[in-house]
Amino acid sequence: MESLRIEPTERRYNFLSMYDDGYDHAEVERRWQGAWDDASAYRTPDEVEDPTYVLGMYPYPSGQLHMGHVRNYTITDAYARYRRLRGDDVLHPMGWDAFGLPAENAAKERDTNPRDWTFDCIETMKGQMESMGFGYDWDREIATCRPEYYKWNQWLFGRFLEEGLAERRDAEVNWCPDCETVLADEQVETDDELCWRCDTPVETRELEQWFLSITEYADELVDYIDELDGWPDSVRQMQRNWIGRQHGTRLEFDVSGPDADYGGVEAFTTRVDTVFGATFFALAPDHPISEELIEADETVHEFVHHEADPEGDEPNGVETDLTARNPATGEELPVFVADFVLSDVGTGALMGVPGHDHRDHAFAEKMGVDIEPVIAPKPEGGADPEAPDVSEGAFTDDGVLVNSGEYSGVESAEARERLTADVESAEAATQYRLRDWGISRQRYWGTPIPIVHCPECGPVLVPDEQLPVELPEFINTTGNPLDAAEEWKSTACPECGADAERETDTMDTFVDSSWYFLRYVSPALADAPFDLERANDWMPVDQYVGGIEHAVMHLLYSRFVTKTLADHEGLEHREPFTNLLAQGMVQLEGEKMSKSKGNVVSPQAIVEEYGADTARLFTMQAAQPERDFDWSEQGVTSAYAFLTRLKEIVEAYADGEIETGDDRGPTAAYVESEIEAAVVIAGEEYDELVFNSAVREAQSLVGTLRRYREEGTVHGETFERGLVTALKLLSPVAPHLCEELWERLGREGFVVDAEWPESNTERETTEKRRRLIENTREDVRQIIDVAGIEDPERIDIAVTPEWKHEALNVAIDSDAPNVIGELMQREEIKRHGDAAAAYGQELQENREALQRTLDPATELEALRSATWLIEREFDATVRVLAAEKADDDVVKKAEPSRPAIDIRE
Ligand SMILES: [Zn+2]
Ligand SMILES: [Zn+2]
Repeated sequence: MESLRIEPTERRYNFLSMYDDGYDHAEVERRWQGAWDDASAYRTPDEVEDPTYVLGMYPYPSGQLHMGHVRNYTITDAYARYRRLRGDDVLHPMGWDAFGLPAENAAKERDTNPRDWTFDCIETMKGQMESMGFGYDWDREIATCRPEYYKWNQWLFGRFLEEGLAERRDAEVNWCPDCETVLADEQVETDDELCWRCDTPVETRELEQWFLSITEYADELVDYIDELDGWPDSVRQMQRNWIGRQHGTRLEFDVSGPDADYGGVEAFTTRVDTVFGATFFALAPDHPISEELIEADETVHEFVHHEADPEGDEPNGVETDLTARNPATGEELPVFVADFVLSDVGTGALMGVPGHDHRDHAFAEKMGVDIEPVIAPKPEGGADPEAPDVSEGAFTDDGVLVNSGEYSGVESAEARERLTADVESAEAATQYRLRDWGISRQRYWGTPIPIVHCPECGPVLVPDEQLPVELPEFINTTGNPLDAAEEWKSTACPECGADAERETDTMDTFVDSSWYFLRYVSPALADAPFDLERANDWMPVDQYVGGIEHAVMHLLYSRFVTKTLADHEGLEHREPFTNLLAQGMVQLEGEKMSKSKGNVVSPQAIVEEYGADTARLFTMQAAQPERDFDWSEQGVTSAYAFLTRLKEIVEAYADGEIETGDDRGPTAAYVESEIEAAVVIAGEEYDELVFNSAVREAQSLVGTLRRYREEGTVHGETFERGLVTALKLLSPVAPHLCEELWERLGREGFVVDAEWPESNTERETTEKRRRLIENTREDVRQIIDVAGIEDPERIDIAVTPEWKHEALNVAIDSDAPNVIGELMQREEIKRHGDAAAAYGQELQENREALQRTLDPATELEALRSATWLIEREFDATVRVLAAEKADDDVVKKAEPSRPAIDIRE
């Protein structure tokens, strides 16, 4: 976990005195929020061609913004503002994921209705967002619970149905008895099978459900993950695992018993190379054969209904009187009904190979089934493979086949290919963990599924012209309110006109969020979900930011829906989000903030006490956006102290309290180079969304200006350029105060509309320059320390003669095994005799580590520009000397980027 970085000067800062000198942040922030609003500063006109689309995952309107929201939306806001400074048109909208269960529960508790409760929450949270100064185009605001929005969920459902991508089927579903609703697989927390909302153990039920065929896109969804190089690897891996594509072999085992012959039963395996080690065959409890056995066999009945526990840690099963013929060996294997075989993954039947699979091994030990090794580790050299001891545990690696008839001696990979070709019933097959997306919810506060059930025609899609199917008034009932809304429910069949009933299920709210990013493009459009041409121009989202908890559900469904819109509705993009950032958590003392733990810090309280700019600056400077960090009072006050100092220095300059002159001396050159450095480095860091480093550059520039001011007279033009630059660099993170100070400096327009400052240097050069100065100062400190100098009077710093720079460059460019010969071919080096030979020897010894340095003139200039810093630190006269002006005895020790230092007491 990244800890807070606090500058030493700030650590010494006395909070009380700072607070006295603080500023009226509330007034400043209100003023500029009003001014931006009046000027529609963040509006994105429909005419712009291809704005940079910056988007934070829209919030669920739960009542109050929490610290996670503040962090998420400060990241997008700072990035959006940065892109504006760079001259981009920016699209930065906000909306509300407004349907969902908590609103329904809250409405029941408070004896109101979900709609009023939701819009109250939206009003509160929108006000909080405005008080944070987030620059959204509120003209594009959406709320998914408005009929104008959810109409298009219904329209989308109709298109899915028409394209054969939606179907209704009987399904065993996850059922939360507490929420009284069906849950998607993704909403069941995997370890303990608990409801993601309320932590109640999830049960199963059989219900007719609507499914969207996301599995049709499984291959594309997994293949395209490789292309998403703007996404974090962790999220990509979670999606791969969730889709769970496995390449393997499907093959048939003939199953028969004393009274029945079931013919070939399909099993899937990724390890057909182990088929000679299969010692049992197992069926899922709901496999059709198991279901027959339940009727006929008391022990199977007993097991399936009373003992089977698919979620248990131990595999359980019961032996039947059936046998299965191994298609590779002809051997008859015992058949079990086992709870670890899942019918919804693969075929619901498997070949058990205890020697080479951990779970099969545990099962075989428990049931007393044979365990046989058929794969040996690949031997070294030409030795014969030796079967491993698998009595205590399975050997699961690939290796060389043993005890496998004509395949013995063949390596696993090749054996898989040959056996898939040779075994008569076998064929290559691919299996997925991904299931179709069950979208039916037996809940009120969601999009009604636009279906009418007709006794004659069956389920009939509500025609587009009758959309939206609007929700009726809320009925407070323990069951599904739509089922209780009798008047609403009864309707006429759109096909035959007969009396019919509406579908009373609503859609999973992940349907709403699977395409909302498209609605922002044309939020008021009445005859289509989105303006196709504009969506083609404006999509995909360039930078998406949200929590890692959405790695699978929301981010996978959005990809799926985008692909279907590309295939059927003319959208020219197959992926919705080019770059994704999953922000870390804001914690308190290392723990996640949560209401139940009572360790919540309210962003509103910070805004009231210190202002939005402080809250924003603190969250951005505390850590890189992906990392977790601890909320800290000290961090907040230090951010506030910095802003106060910034305000003080700008105002002092604007009020003429800082003495300015026209003399551009070496000190001004130093400040100039620090301005250049801050611009180039902060720009690169903002590009990569490393806000803490970008902010650190701006803060260090302000520190430099404060030190410069203490020198007495400053070069006016340079000083003002420094202040203006600092304001521009900080404005993405602390926009209100920067706007206020921009005005104090008499600048035109808004700082948020300003242009990113120009820089005439490269990061590498500025960093070399800084290192040179820092290393030189450190060398002076060490010499004074080691030599025990109490009161240095004069410090001479002598830079290296040109020929050493040249020798260094020759050595770097040279391909020769020994560089000395090459150096001595150059007259200007050779004429330095022993010194040249000695330096050549040193270069030769350090060949691997040699790095290019600043050229001699720049080195001299950089050190001269830092003279004032060294004089200040050591209270001595400092001279920076060109090699030819320095004493020979001194200068001979100098090397490129390592000047010689001579100190006199
Ligand atoms: Zn629940
Ligand atoms: Zn009908």
